[in-house]
Amino acid sequence: MFNALIVNKNEEGKTSAAVEQITLDDLPAGDVTVAVEYSTVNYKDGLCIGPGGGLVRNYPHIPGIDFAGTVEASDDARYKAGDKVVLTGWRVGEAHWGGYSQKARVSGDWLVPLPSGLDTRQAMAVGTAGFTAMLAVMALEDHGIKDGPVLVTGAAGGVGSVATAILAHLGHEVAAVTGRPETAEYLSGLGATQIVAREELNETVKRPLEAEVWGGCVDAVGGEMLARVLGQMKYGASVSAVGLAGGAGLPATVIPFLLRGVNLLGIDSVMQPYENRLRAWERVAKDLPMDKLEAMVQPAVLSDLPALGRDILKGQVKGRVVVDVN
Ligand code: NDP
Repeated sequence: MFNALIVNKNEEGKTSAAVEQITLDDLPAGDVTVAVEYSTVNYKDGLCIGPGGGLVRNYPHIPGIDFAGTVEASDDARYKAGDKVVLTGWRVGEAHWGGYSQKARVSGDWLVPLPSGLDTRQAMAVGTAGFTAMLAVMALEDHGIKDGPVLVTGAAGGVGSVATAILAHLGHEVAAVTGRPETAEYLSGLGATQIVAREELNETVKRPLEAEVWGGCVDAVGGEMLARVLGQMKYGASVSAVGLAGGAGLPATVIPFLLRGVNLLGIDSVMQPYENRLRAWERVAKDLPMDKLEAMVQPAVLSDLPALGRDILKGQVKGRVVVDVN
């Protein structure tokens, strides 16, 4: 018997989450069984611990969109018992049972070896949010980061915290947008040189072009903020669109694309090809200072998850939650 966070749905369609005991026989089919050590809390986890947001297909469900641990049994030639592995994406924790469990059974195709230079706890301090932040920075680099500050929106959240620390470590000036002024010291500690109040950027676009300010942007917020930011990008600069914490709409004009050659780059972490996953994890190990990562960590256990799921949906989680499932 081992512990897992099980989400059930009652006849009225209401979900409830609690730690329960299950057995290996309860786990779904898959070729690799992993003894999970750590998982995390991402925005999507908040949805899947709660009402599901349309992501979860079947109940009972085990959420947890990422985990790191040790292979216990494997029918996949690439992995053997004792190997340390990491999983992000592939709709694990949504369409498949995920990492909020002391054991998980998955397809070997979804795993990557634990990146050298990271332990399993650090890998989950990074987690999907940090891995995605790295993909976003890599996309900006591929298109050329212009002079001037790089803007990070939703900066005190998971994606934003890791993006801030990586960009600062790479030598960029970082302007961090936050709706929580009390996080200013935390964000400066991660390397932000400028704090921008959320209110300055979440007004509807009135003029399609404003003064050119930002040399690049990692955007975790979307909505009206992204629309405003597009009109403030420097000529030829790029925005990596990662998230929708502020809304899925984009009430913008095409003028910044046509008159300033601004690039809007879509970032998806879920279906990333294997080679690019390895490249991103290698970059994380190299370009994310571990003391900065540690400063982001809030430790948790399985029984904390129902409350943490609600908090992250309200934008109240700071940095990265690391869940010790044991
Ligand atoms: P977090 O909740 O940790 O961070 C989101 C941050 O956005 C909050 O901390 C807050 O930052 C800010 N925010 C919240 N609500 C609003 C609002 N209404 N208006 C403006 N800002 C707001 O979530 P994650 O970092 O885990 O994820 C961020 C986003 O990225 C989510 O939408 C998530 O779904 C998406 N995502 C996408 C991935 C992909 O593959 N494309 C992978 C991972 C995440 P502050 O308090 O500093 O203002």
